[in-house]
Amino acid sequence: MDDCIFCKVIAGELPCQKVYEDDHVLAFLDIRPINPGHTLLVPKQHAANLLETSLEDAQRLMEVAKKIAPGILKTVGTESFNLAVNNGRSSGQVVFHTHMHIMPRFPADGYAAWQRQDDKHDDLASMAEKIRLQLAS
Ligand code: 5GP
Ligand code: ZN
Repeated sequence: MDDCIFCKVIAGELPCQKVYEDDHVLAFLDIRPINPGHTLLVPKQHAANLLETSLEDAQRLMEVAKKIAPGILKTVGTESFNLAVNNGRSSGQVVFHTHMHIMPRFPADGYAAWQRQDDKHDDLASMAEKIRLQLAS
């Protein structure tokens, strides 16, 4: 896509610090890392988000994550990481070309886990029932 920043990276029109590439996936360092080794994995085929990404490319992203995460972690000296795909503005997605984040984590690195909300949940049984009905429709 013409105005997509990650398509430009894939095309070599914008620079990146590449860590891995194959026929379908490119992995490069995030320009504003949360921690050393923060890496983005992108399918070379443009799609705006995970739900618009082909199943094949979604599988490839996970395969590459499994393949390269150990090397990234070894390089930066940790065994912990978050794997994240932001989907939609409310989730924090700002680049609308599907990407997976590998974010190495360190003890006391200052990032909190998601806050669980005891008082915010709907009735779980009725929510599960509603989702099952939706999935069956
Ligand atoms: P999102 O919030 O959409 O899941 O994450 C987009 C990520 O892309 C951000 O972490 C941001 O730092 C990174 N990013 C944005 N523009 C560029 C760029 O031109 N080069 C690289 N390497 N990363 C970028
Ligand atoms: Zn794109």
